[in-house]
Amino acid sequence: MQAVAIVPAAGHGARMRSAHPKVLTPLLDRPLLGWTLEPILDLGIFSEILIACSPEAKDAFAQFLTEETEMGAPVRLVAGGKTRQESVANCLREISVDCNLVAIHDGARPLLTAELMVEVLNRANETDAAIAAVPSKDTVKLCDEEGIISSTLDRSRVWLVQTPQCFRRSLLVSAYEKARREGYVATDDATLVERAGAPVHIVMGSYENIKVTTPEDIAICEEILKQRCLE
Ligand code: C5P
Repeated sequence: MQAVAIVPAAGHGARMRSAHPKVLTPLLDRPLLGWTLEPILDLGIFSEILIACSPEAKDAFAQFLTEETEMGAPVRLVAGGKTRQESVANCLREISVDCNLVAIHDGARPLLTAELMVEVLNRANETDAAIAAVPSKDTVKLCDEEGIISSTLDRSRVWLVQTPQCFRRSLLVSAYEKARREGYVATDDATLVERAGAPVHIVMGSYENIKVTTPEDIAICEEILKQRCLE
């Protein structure tokens, strides 16, 4: 299998109440993105790793790469877009090597393990499309704009979607192209592949694989990382 990794990391982190890129926030004195990249780099299976960063913060990201990655590591910065989807689309266009699989992992999920990445990649290699997700522990309701419940989903079928999300490259590119033509915007990659009519398979993710969104998430991640360092 020949695979490329895309790491969307161009979010502005408004909910982190910070002026700096969220993914460069320190976690145990190391930028969050350093933790995210560690298992991806350590695996040594990606011929290219493209990181989407906000163009205004390109210098800070370049500095981060010099400090966090070894010379010759196959990592490159790509200008992100206004949405996550645009950021991933920009990276897809920038792939410069032959590959048949693309793995996408949010820069803001620093608790990824190499094992989970490999599981999702292997499943995508067998099926063309696989993503990590966990069963919902809570009951999920849909509400109208006034906050009145309109329906309740069957919890036994509700999955909370994470990354990695891995796809056959040709399928992902055509799904992104269809969304662009139709002006459709989604918050994850699988939605675009589902809309293109292809089955997307779920791999059991991890409740630890959280996306850092608000300042409380930093404390949770630090506790988990401390535990992992002791193991
Ligand atoms: O906030 P959201 O769930 O969209 O963020 C998921 C990931 O997408 C984060 O790692 C964030 O940095 C990235 N992102 C991006 N470009 C954007 C918005 C978010 O790369 N314009």
